Formats: sequence, structure tokens, C-alpha cells
Amino acid sequence: MIYLDYAANTPVDDSVLETYIEISKKYIANPNSPHALGKAALEELNKATRLMAQLLGVKENELIYTSGATESNNLAIKGIAGQYKKYGHHIITTPLEHSSVSGAVAYLQSKGFDIDYVDIDKNGLVDLDSLKELIRDDTILVSICMVDSEVGIKQHISEIAPIIADKPHCYFHIDATQAVGKIKVPLDGVDLMTFAPHKFYGPNGFGVLFKRENVLLEPLINGGISTTEFRSGTPVLPLIVSTAKALSIAFEKMEERYNYVSELNRMLRDALAQYPKVKINSTDESIPFILNLSIFGAKAEEFQAALSDNGICLSTKSACCAPGTLSRPVYALTKDRKAALSTLRISLSHLTTNDDINTFLACFDAIYNKLVK
Ligand code: PLP
Repeated sequence: MIYLDYAANTPVDDSVLETYIEISKKYIANPNSPHALGKAALEELNKATRLMAQLLGVKENELIYTSGATESNNLAIKGIAGQYKKYGHHIITTPLEHSSVSGAVAYLQSKGFDIDYVDIDKNGLVDLDSLKELIRDDTILVSICMVDSEVGIKQHISEIAPIIADKPHCYFHIDATQAVGKIKVPLDGVDLMTFAPHKFYGPNGFGVLFKRENVLLEPLINGGISTTEFRSGTPVLPLIVSTAKALSIAFEKMEERYNYVSELNRMLRDALAQYPKVKINSTDESIPFILNLSIFGAKAEEFQAALSDNGICLSTKSACCAPGTLSRPVYALTKDRKAALSTLRISLSHLTTNDDINTFLACFDAIYNKLVK
């Protein structure tokens, strides 16, 4: 099997899994219990939180632990809306968002919030003038994916943040789920940031929301204090410690992995550009880990199934999207329904080999010649 779907999920790193098992066995108590075993678990939890905070350049009390990026995005968006609705009901986002952002925003729209979508330019970057025009006195939240999950466009967060910083009651959330562990994430002027370790060889079933100390949120899940009053539930020590481990490995290897994957991406782009009915949708602003293309004259799902039959696993869109629907990010970028209905997403890793790419390309060629009319 050749796996080219690393943007959907990554395999857990061996040493991360070992950490998970070791911590599960060694620390049996709830870190919030006041007895000796609870205190030992809490010490371990604090060590891991300290490490994550150091790596991200934030404070320890600014990290909220959740069940995944979907929950972190929901908590950020609905939490800000619930907390600050007294200042306004206007939210700005982009057409590039993952369903966990667009779904949360659609929910708020159904509750009377006013939603605007900022324009993007031909490379997929947020149009700063459009953002300036859209921001109003009653805008309470701007939510933008730092890297979108389908085309891989990396937004210029440091240029966007100052536009929002001017507004006293407007908060800036970034969904950095496809960015953390792969590229540097600038947090100046950012109030909230989502990520999940299963995108960088960490454990599944865990997410983090960075929330600046001075920002408040209405919780989604009510209960005891846990590690923070903003999200209740017994802290899951093995997930927290193994996430800190995965993050530190990802940070240490970031440059090396980025350069390696860039080379694979270049090989793919050069080869796929030769096909007359293939259009590469990823732009110069896309990260090398994601390569999105449209194949005209064949159904994307059929192409994906044929690749899968030949042992190659990749996505048509984000794994959370309904089949047969168009890719919203590709449509926003190209304004071409056909292109948006026929997308394939190849996502790469430092684990992908040159042989994997060559096998994929040979298989792609055979299927293209058979299916594309
Ligand atoms: N945001 C982005 C950009 C994603 O790519 C994903 C997952 O693909 C999510 C959020 C949701 O992540 P999770 O599966 O951890 O809920």
C-alpha cells in the first residue's frame, strides 16, 4: 500500500506511542486528585504543558485540551460568540475553511449571527482590502485557516493580524491544524489557535486550543475545572504527554522534512503538468505537503477508487467532505464548478519515498489513459 493521505491522518510515531503506553502504565491517577498519585500525575502533566507552551511560544495557562481540532474550532467560534455577543453578532471567515469551522459558523448563522466571507486572490490568499472593508464595529470574530486542508494555501497571518488588532472587541482565531508541526505558526496578534497532534505523527483523539490569557470563552462542555475552566473532563495524561513528545519531534525535524517533501512535490508537479486534462489547483502559496489537482473528463471518485484498487490511498477532498459534492476551496479559487467537482488531493510526508512517487505516477498514467475521455 502507498499512503498519500497524510493531511487526513498521520501514523503515530513509534516513540510517541511508547510514551503513550509508558505514561498510561505509570500514572494511574487523575491529575486533579489531591493524593500522592494524583500529584505525581499532575507533575507530569505540568511538565508536558510547559514543553508545549515553550515550543509554541505561549503561556502554560493558554493551552486548552480538547478531543480534536473539530472541538477546538467549535469551542473557539461558539465560545467567542457566546461570550462576546453583547458587542455584536458579526463574524468574518473564508471560503477555504474545514467543515469544523464552516459548520460552527453556519450554526451561529442559524442563531441570528451575520456571517461574511472574505475574498481571496488568485493564489488563494485573503484579500486584505476585502477584509478591511468587511470589518465592522460589531464584528466580534475573524476565523481564518492558516493552511486550508484541501489546496494547502498558507495565509500570511502576520499581515492579517494587525487589521484585526485595531478593533477592541474583535478576536482573531486561526485554524492551524494543517500548519502546526509542518511550518512555523506566528502567533503575534492571534487570540486563538487550533491544532491536533494526529496531523503530525501524534496520537488520535486529542486537540489543543491556544487561547490568549485575556480572552474569555463560553464553554461548550460544562463540568469541573479540569486543567482549565473552559473545558471540563478528566485530563487525559497519556495524550497530553505524547502530544508534547510529537510536537517536539516535529519542531526538531521541521526544516529537514519541509525540504524533503518540497522535492517530492516538485517531482509530482513536473510529471502531472504533462497531462492535458490535469490542472494543478495548489498555488505558489500552497505548502508542499498538499498537492491538489483537477482531472477533467473523469469522475474524481472513480479515479480515487481505481488508485485504491492498485494500492494507492489518497483523498478527493478533505476526508470529512460528503462524496459527490464540490470542493469549496477549489471552487473559491477557480470559480470553475467542473474543476471543483473533479479534485484529487495528494498529501505527502517525510515517510513518502521516491519509489512511492514513481509507483504512483506509473499507476496514475495507466488510469488516466483508461478513464479520461
Ligand atoms: N481543521 C483542519 C484544517 C483540518 O484539516 C481538520 C482535519 O482534517 C480539522 C480541522 C479537524 O480535525 P479533527 O479530525 O482533529 O477534528
